Amino acid sequence: MLAQGGIAAVRLPEDSVDYHVRDTLMAGDGHNDPVLVNEILAEGSALINQLASEGFPFDRDAQQRISLGLEGAHSFNRIFHAGGDATGRILMEYLLDRTSGRASIIEHATVLQLIVEEGRCTGVLALQEGQLTEFRADAVVIASGGCGSLYAHHTGDSSITGDGLMLAYEAGAELCDLEFMQFHPTMLVKNGTTYGLISEAVRGEGGVLRNEQGLRIMEGKHPLGDLAPRDVVARAIHEQMQNGHDVHLDIRGCKHFSERFPTITGILEKAGIHWTDGKIPVVPGMHFMMGGIKVDGSGSSRLPGLYAIGEAACTGLHGANRLASNSLLEALVLGRRAAQHSFQYVMRQHSRTQMETADPKLLDTPPSANRAFFEVPQVTLAELQQQMSLHASIVRHAQGLRQLAQWLRNLKTDPVPLSQLTREQAELSHLWKLAQLVVTSAQLRTESRGAHYRADYPVPLDSQWSGRTITHTNTAAPIVAAERTMNECSVSL
Ligand SMILES: Cc1cc2nc3c(=O)[nH]c(=O)nc-3n(C[C@H](O)[C@H](O)[C@H](O)COP(=O)(O)OP(=O)(O)OC[C@H]3O[C@@H](n4cnc5c(N)ncnc54)[C@H](O)[C@@H]3O)c2cc1C
Repeated sequence: MLAQGGIAAVRLPEDSVDYHVRDTLMAGDGHNDPVLVNEILAEGSALINQLASEGFPFDRDAQQRISLGLEGAHSFNRIFHAGGDATGRILMEYLLDRTSGRASIIEHATVLQLIVEEGRCTGVLALQEGQLTEFRADAVVIASGGCGSLYAHHTGDSSITGDGLMLAYEAGAELCDLEFMQFHPTMLVKNGTTYGLISEAVRGEGGVLRNEQGLRIMEGKHPLGDLAPRDVVARAIHEQMQNGHDVHLDIRGCKHFSERFPTITGILEKAGIHWTDGKIPVVPGMHFMMGGIKVDGSGSSRLPGLYAIGEAACTGLHGANRLASNSLLEALVLGRRAAQHSFQYVMRQHSRTQMETADPKLLDTPPSANRAFFEVPQVTLAELQQQMSLHASIVRHAQGLRQLAQWLRNLKTDPVPLSQLTREQAELSHLWKLAQLVVTSAQLRTESRGAHYRADYPVPLDSQWSGRTITHTNTAAPIVAAERTMNECSVSL
């Protein structure tokens, strides 16, 4: 709903999927799954161009050509957008309209647990209007987003608390790449209050970053200047702030600002800042999680019947850092693939002749699935966010991570029976457990790559880390895999 900038897809004749692949691999810092990058981007471009020809209301210029924006680290204008900067909302409305009458939608229900039977996921247990309700299903698709709420400043909704990841983890699925968190360089924060994201597209349209002395902070930092990859820009702002400077986005160079960015204009007005002043105060905020539930190219996790798509999933498309506007693209492609694959899976389950064989290791239901109690830490959400922001955010180092790991481990907990659990307690419990996995991954990866920056290991160490993923399951210690796995996929109806 909140996505502003748009969806990346190839349309210009001088652009190609190969260039889009190249930009994605560059941003991902060699940690992407190249097979899936090729597949998803090729399929995604075809899908977006098909949406455009079906009448999806992408913004167009006076000659009715699709207006393509430019965003950081893209070599060509390839950002399809709608409603100026309301792409997410318009996409959601478009898809909801097409789902109408074909799906039941239950709102304001929080899933607390996945149901696992004989090594398969067969439903969910949710808190709905204060009642625990069981929803049985042939297959379950997690689309619960990322984990922005781990940090004090984040661009997402407060309901994005890593729930899906922990539900999957507890049910026996694998989580990977958790050390790679993307911080968006430009969030509007005034007097400590977060008002929202100022899209990169503003810099694509001429906005530049300056400190209070008027100095351009990206000069000499990267060949792409203000449109350098997000981690580079976020670190430059972080460094300025550490040195006592304030940073703002100077938008005097952006033409027709309020027409091109109506959503952002609204955010500025809400914060009491008029865009005509030309100065938007910005700080970096947690924006996107590259890691997640490890899935293959069809969205399947290792637990039969459990799929994950969107930000909750880790396909390997984004590698160590996501290229701007690739996430809606991935969500659409994986959404379609998971729908097709889960349909086949369900048909096979129903035919009973080809029951999917569960991995024997999964037949023993993991100890924390189907549990009766939640361990709720005795800490406030704000304290947890503050500690994560201090030691596991844009710049990390061994000492801070060790201190944080110890703090997290030493928190006292209350066992709360499922029947008495509130949504807030469930979210806090998930965030606390996820924080421990994130910190472990960040400790283990003794190098800097993509969005994971270690001040004590400031460069990528290819000989030790290239292509290696860190994976967590709830039955074993973290596994540092020799290389990416699970890149194969075949879906057809
Ligand atoms: C401000 C902003 C701007 C962005 N701009 C862009 C952009 O321009 N282009 C782009 O490609 N990407 C953009 N992104 C990233 C992109 O929007 C997200 O990656 C994408 O929306 C993720 O979609 P999703 O469906 O996986 O999850 P989300 O859209 O985050 O939705 C997850 C849903 O799951 C619900 N949920 C969570 N836990 C539970 C639970 N336990 N039970 C029930 N429901 C639950 C949440 O309430 C939410 O409704 C942006 C993100 C933000 C925050």
